[in-house]
Amino acid sequence: MTTRDTEVAIIGGGAAGIAAGRRLHDEGIACLIVEARSRLGGRAWTVADTAGLPLDLGCGWLHSADRNPWVAIAEAQGLTIDRTAPPWSRPSLPGVFAPGDQSAFNEAMNAFFERLSDAVASGKDMPAAALLEPGNRWNNLIVAVGTYISGTELAAMSALDFEHYHDTEVNWRVKEGYGAAIAAHGAGVPVVFDCAVTRIDHHGKRLRIETANGYIAADRAIVTLPSNVLAEREDFFSPALPEKTRAASRLPLGLADKLFLSLEQPEEFSAGGRLFGNVERAGTGTYHMRPFGRPMIECFYAGQCARDLEAGGENAFFDFAVGELTAHLGSDFARRIKPLLIHPWGSDPHARGSYSYAVPGAAGERAVLAAPVDGRLFFAGEACSAHDFSTAHGGYFTGIAAAEQAIASLKR
Ligand SMILES: Cc1cc2nc3c(=O)[nH]c(=O)nc-3n(C[C@H](O)[C@H](O)[C@H](O)COP(=O)(O)OP(=O)(O)OC[C@H]3O[C@@H](n4cnc5c(N)ncnc54)[C@H](O)[C@@H]3O)c2cc1C
Repeated sequence: MTTRDTEVAIIGGGAAGIAAGRRLHDEGIACLIVEARSRLGGRAWTVADTAGLPLDLGCGWLHSADRNPWVAIAEAQGLTIDRTAPPWSRPSLPGVFAPGDQSAFNEAMNAFFERLSDAVASGKDMPAAALLEPGNRWNNLIVAVGTYISGTELAAMSALDFEHYHDTEVNWRVKEGYGAAIAAHGAGVPVVFDCAVTRIDHHGKRLRIETANGYIAADRAIVTLPSNVLAEREDFFSPALPEKTRAASRLPLGLADKLFLSLEQPEEFSAGGRLFGNVERAGTGTYHMRPFGRPMIECFYAGQCARDLEAGGENAFFDFAVGELTAHLGSDFARRIKPLLIHPWGSDPHARGSYSYAVPGAAGERAVLAAPVDGRLFFAGEACSAHDFSTAHGGYFTGIAAAEQAIASLKR
């Protein structure tokens, strides 16, 4: 058994843990990020394809970019911010979704969001699906878009929590990779890799952070584990913290997976175009043609559709993409695409999903998950964010907030 000693142990080195570690380290406080993987970033992960192009398998969009702290961080690192409007703000490829139908769908979706806002204005909660207009032709596609946003079907998620999300609708990208920018922000912060924490014992005067490689003694801990990881471990804290386990289980991670395809003869498509796989189905992908003008397609699957594809293995994603794309672009199109990269986040033992939503009635659980315990256990991670949940900037804000709480408690 090896032992280590630190003032603040940060459990998990994703966006939240990195933000917390950077803040504490810059303050001159001894801290240590304890990370189960052999890399920083967590659900922020940029991987180079065979041609060396950086692909974001996790977060890719700087949502609410005009107030997103990762923009300035990436720029200070010398990275390039692409301010091109996102594909979902543009019309679908001509010939795939008739313009009249697109307008009718946009109208139906905007009406759905307005009904949702009005219905929860008094603070009353309900499943978001209750606000669908019965019999509306576009309900399936509205559900599909709901899964892209929240990782789950509208029937499973809280309308009130959905309404709490603050979106400035400014969306940019980092050309060299959002994941790369987030991981680089941790440079110089002490980290121990390949070190999954199995328990935090908070009986004694000091915290005992137990791992497979020994234990770490600490005065404070900032816990940033994904909600699904926290929810499946009732014995993670000793003494147990049932309110944390319950809050985490009511803020599960929905599922979204990206498949990257190489594309031959890319010049036939304009950069940044997009299409839905099937506008009649809830279980359908959305396809971003030539992101950054590159010869590839970024495919996005979410909710039950992504769960089914993960169950079928990596080939299932490619087969599904071929089926949906050739339905629009002709059977010869299959020869022009090849699979590049996919990461199944639901099967990833250190994530168990992609981003958090609240089950109906659980909008208040984000505050419960974020609340400190005994002035020495602090909580961060996107699921703790009241208004920026499910995002990397939400992770950042909660990491900074937890670091400030830890600093204040050490000064006391
Ligand atoms: C496909 C996909 C697309 C996305 N798109 C966007 C997007 O466009 N824009 C956006 O803002 N967000 C997006 N997100 C969400 C965003 O990536 C996450 O909200 C954010 O990265 C979460 O950061 P976090 O620090 O809260 O959690 P994590 O990044 O999950 O960090 C938690 C860390 O804890 C570690 N860990 C787990 N178990 C243990 C253990 N027992 N001991 C020690 N360490 C452990 C994990 O390895 C991980 O590094 C996307 C996510 C996915 C998967």
